[in-house]
Amino acid sequence: MIRLSAITPSGQPTLGNYLGALRTWAREGTHEDVYFISDLHAMTSSHNPQRLRSMTREQLAVLVASGIDPASVCVQSDLIRELGALNWVLECTCTYGEAARMIQFKEKSLGRESVRLSLLTYPVLMAADILLYDADRVPVGDDQRQHLELTRNLAQRFNSRFGETFVVPEAVIPPPGRGDRIMDLQEPQKKMSKSSASQQGTIGLFDSPAIIERKIKRAVTDTETEVRYDPKTKPGVSNLLEILAASAGGDPRALAEGYANYGSLKADVAAALIEKLRPVQERYRELAGDPAATAGILGKGAAKAESVAAVTLERARTAIGLLPR
Ligand code: AMP
Repeated sequence: MIRLSAITPSGQPTLGNYLGALRTWAREGTHEDVYFISDLHAMTSSHNPQRLRSMTREQLAVLVASGIDPASVCVQSDLIRELGALNWVLECTCTYGEAARMIQFKEKSLGRESVRLSLLTYPVLMAADILLYDADRVPVGDDQRQHLELTRNLAQRFNSRFGETFVVPEAVIPPPGRGDRIMDLQEPQKKMSKSSASQQGTIGLFDSPAIIERKIKRAVTDTETEVRYDPKTKPGVSNLLEILAASAGGDPRALAEGYANYGSLKADVAAALIEKLRPVQERYRELAGDPAATAGILGKGAAKAESVAAVTLERARTAIGLLPR
């Protein structure tokens, strides 16, 4: 079974990325899996070329520092030729109406004067990413459910018109309450995000222990005093309990019973989080200081990805009539 997922280099990775995605990829992944830095997706809105490049390297080191097998990491644009070719084939399978129905496109383009065409078409590129590697399972957040459905529709439509070519993948969405949605510490109704304007609400993967302590201490709670897990009416406190559960183990509901006030909960959350992130930060610093090691990982990742992609692409080109049978 091949699992595939990605992280976009659009800012410093957050605690949400780590608890919601990277640590699961590290724990459950095998060397057959593919985890990549989606630098092409980062170009769907205004971007800075130098920053894109440095963040791509930085995030590659983050994936490896998080414990993901270096043999399964790569950078999306290393396969730009194969992806470009499959993207075109899939654009010829997708309708305009399907692409324009994507909620993320509607949300991100709303009220903007100028929208890159790639913001409309990138779900098709995402389908190419997934289908190129014959991925069976795609672990993603709930926000990607619709894009995954599009990928499945395109794969099924292509297979039924042109013959069995693509593996039809399944989305794997983590159960609620297990770090699947870490919320912003200042606005706990919003998901913690790399692109968030509020620095105080977002814990960066490289934040120092002192900064983590300060941000947790200032996290928004509510006017009550009871520590209880109830994401609807107590989103701030429930988010802290989820972070504690994901960092130190246990169930957020059961953990709540051990606390009489918010102060002691916050102190424990900060301590558990600092311990959880310490080894990742240490490994990251080692890798960041060794560019040759990162370059080696990149080279091997690209070669492995290319060998799988070439076979799928040939199958698709043959099926659609671009190569002789
Ligand atoms: P992105 O930040 O959009 O590149 O997402 C990379 C991965 O991190 C995806 O699997 C997301 O679902 C996951 N992720 C991003 N933000 C959060 C969050 N606040 N809580 C849980 N998972 C998240």
